[in-house]
Amino acid sequence: MIPAPSTRHDVRLENVIKQFGGWTAVDNISLSIEGGEFFSLLGPSGCGKSTTLSMIGGFESPSAGAIYLDGEDVSRQPSYKRDVNTVFQSYALFPHLTIFENVAFGLRRKGVKSDEVTRRTNEMLELVDLAGFAKRKPGQLSGGQAQRVALARALVNKPKLLLLDEPLGALDLKLRKQMQIELKRIQSEVGITFLFVTHDQEEAMAMSDRLAVMSKGRIEQIGTPADVYDHPATEFVASFLGASNLLPGTITAQNGAQAQVTLEDGAIITLPRAVLAQIAGDKVKIGVRPEKFHVLQPGEPRPDGWNEIEAIAGVSVYLGVSRQYEMESKTGRALSVYAQNSGRQEDIPPGSAVRLTWNPAHTFAVTGT
Ligand code: ADP
Ligand code: MG
Repeated sequence: MIPAPSTRHDVRLENVIKQFGGWTAVDNISLSIEGGEFFSLLGPSGCGKSTTLSMIGGFESPSAGAIYLDGEDVSRQPSYKRDVNTVFQSYALFPHLTIFENVAFGLRRKGVKSDEVTRRTNEMLELVDLAGFAKRKPGQLSGGQAQRVALARALVNKPKLLLLDEPLGALDLKLRKQMQIELKRIQSEVGITFLFVTHDQEEAMAMSDRLAVMSKGRIEQIGTPADVYDHPATEFVASFLGASNLLPGTITAQNGAQAQVTLEDGAIITLPRAVLAQIAGDKVKIGVRPEKFHVLQPGEPRPDGWNEIEAIAGVSVYLGVSRQYEMESKTGRALSVYAQNSGRQEDIPPGSAVRLTWNPAHTFAVTGT
């Protein structure tokens, strides 16, 4: 095992812009990543994730703004001078070299002494759980194993920062889930800062200490997985990170720690005032995640202080752990409601009128129109 680096190496981007011809691929991004963090860039294809990573790695230079590694402005520094390695989706292993030599390659090129090459390469193969594979060739490995070799090769030089561009994208779902856990373990053992790119929200949530949600070259929100899921700052973040129910309304009272929003059907919703801190004007969309709704039984009172709206149940799908209902609000808004399969609730037939209740603390809000 390699000891964790003793100093904290942060990555900082200040107002970074990247244009290709007249096209702005990265549009004024600022963020900072702490040493040892597992940080992800999450967003749909084409939103500028790889371009951002390329600028940090030194394969592209920013059109404007600055990039700092470990406090040093590296914006104009060539790639080879940066203490950064990258792992891509395609493994790009040397097919004619053994696994050992693939991993040892960077050390040999640097002129590291032979016994140290052996020691460090073996240490890396151990780390990625491929100690028995040293003599094989890349063609004799599975996709997951090949990706672990690529990871060992990128880590053997002990970079301060490892960039990972959709490294698990080529793997099937089951292997991908296993590799997510492996990557987390490896990162915590080596203590190197990981900057991970993915378009898969579940993957980003499962792996990251913090993440930046990107859309159209911009950062929509930065936070922990729980921050961005429970308190999405924009409509884009709310819908990109799983299903969300958004109900338009108007802020009608803000007293003390509580606020009230009147929905378009006249229902009055209570929510923590802090939830409205970033809202400009009095038009909002209040949001509730599908699993935060509880379906009340006929005649059942709602819990004290909770919100309530009326809905009509539609079709549902059974997913084992939950049953997921499509519903419609009184004003015809589509709602998703997940009822946990606790064995306590009867299925709700399509067409039934239901009352939905939720804890005001589980409400978020985005600016409305
Ligand atoms: P992502 O990795 O999030 O899918 P990219 O960073 O690869 O997105 O690309 C962002 C946008 O910039 C895309 O519209 C892409 O077509 C464009 N782009 C990326 N690289 C180049 C390039 N070298 N020349 C022109 N356009 C590019
Ligand atoms: Mg990409």
